[in-house]
Amino acid sequence: MASSLIRGKHVVCKVHDRTRAEIIEDGAVYQEDGRIVAVGPHAELARRYRPDETLGSPHHVVIPGFVNSHHHVGLTPLQLGSPDHPLELWFASRMAARDVDPYLDALYSAFEMIESGITTVQHLHGRCPGPAERIQGAAQAVIRAYEAIGMRVSYSFGIRDQNRLVYEADDAFVARLPADIAPDVEALLRRQAIPLADNFRIFENLAATYRGSERVRIQLAPANLHWCSDRALEGVRDACAAHGVPFHMHVVETQYQKEYARRRTGTTAVAHLHRLGLLGPHCTIGHGVWLTEADIDLVAETGTRICHNCSSNLRLRSGVAALNRFERKGIPVAIGIDEAGINDDRDMLQEMRLVLRMHRVPGMDDQVPTAPQVLRMATEHGAATTPFGDAIGTLEPGKAADLSILSWQQIAAPYLDADVPVIDAIVQRGRSAGVETVVVAGEPILRDGKFTRVDKAAVLEELATALRRPRTEEETRRQELSRRVFPHVKAFYEGYVPDEAPDPFYRTSGRF
Ligand SMILES: [Zn+2]
Repeated sequence: MASSLIRGKHVVCKVHDRTRAEIIEDGAVYQEDGRIVAVGPHAELARRYRPDETLGSPHHVVIPGFVNSHHHVGLTPLQLGSPDHPLELWFASRMAARDVDPYLDALYSAFEMIESGITTVQHLHGRCPGPAERIQGAAQAVIRAYEAIGMRVSYSFGIRDQNRLVYEADDAFVARLPADIAPDVEALLRRQAIPLADNFRIFENLAATYRGSERVRIQLAPANLHWCSDRALEGVRDACAAHGVPFHMHVVETQYQKEYARRRTGTTAVAHLHRLGLLGPHCTIGHGVWLTEADIDLVAETGTRICHNCSSNLRLRSGVAALNRFERKGIPVAIGIDEAGINDDRDMLQEMRLVLRMHRVPGMDDQVPTAPQVLRMATEHGAATTPFGDAIGTLEPGKAADLSILSWQQIAAPYLDADVPVIDAIVQRGRSAGVETVVVAGEPILRDGKFTRVDKAAVLEELATALRRPRTEEETRRQELSRRVFPHVKAFYEGYVPDEAPDPFYRTSGRF
């Protein structure tokens, strides 16, 4: 039986609400075999238990592990040559990306996530060419990477059965392309297409493979309304009910998606999902930038969750989500770093600070994000979007021992006024450089800044070596095709959104 006592000057166990949290001064967490047995004053726990080892010290702070609730890839699109276009154009520019080994790629971002205190990731996998066997192989390579490094993962492969490049049927779009690129675009889109039933087969196979795994869960991810037919969405609804798993779906990330929903359904994307019976606590809406007031009410009434992807919304010019409205309605909101944060990496502490600052609208009321609120978003609320649910996200007896040990020196030296609340200090001053040890299921996977299971330098070298080779013929063809189809994708959206569409960024103060 492996046990440890993790001590800190402050142990942050759980956030209760926007202002209150349970923090134990000179506290400790005692865990056995990955499960928390007790939390309390260090002196008392040290007397009561005989742990195999002690982690942390009076110069550290202990917090629950973060959950990155929306993640896709390792090397960022920018690293792979795709600049920050508006989302719809970015889909076209991303076609040019090189093929990267999925195992090494997943490890690359896992390094960044763990180094910033993330212990669980919601990995939403997409853009893998078929057939289903190949996708399943890539899925297992990704999961193997998380297993190798020791991170907890909720994995899903994005379901798409239509409209792969723009917000209309593939055939219709291809039919309007010039003859010299149409066949190549058609072939590329066809390679990505797999029968709808295969999507569910991939889910079921993976769910069976990882049943009983401590750190791996499989869930569903209908990629977005435009990518999914109603038949696909109904399939997701039924599979979730049959398997008792949640799902995560990009919804109204941009104004173009809002308009697409109106044209397709005559209402909003959220109202349509509700009509199909998909909303509820098992549903997480990724982004939700362009939700209407009525949508927000419906999300709140149904207990649906939202994942706030703040950096991504800025980088791809999607807009600013109405976080303050969500909070006022009591909607549980998680944080997702999506492809990458504003530093083009996966730093949760940085992302939390962006969320804290982004929504500070003018005025003196108490309606802007608070540090405890943001911490809860990054922990407990994130956890609830995954099949791990309330087994993770807070430090309480019976829960998984997933936590980070941060240097209090890094946060508080050379001086920090004693009146500064602990969580405010962590959220505003914590840096990934101060994240010393990260524990998942009781096991330190990062100890004193070093990965315990994987040789980071060797992996990075392997990744660099793999990409040092010249582009393959196929990669070059895709790069050229991306460049040539780009203006046609842009032309598709000219006049797509009516001029009078309100802009959530500028509309009214207090909106976000
Ligand atoms: Zn995304």
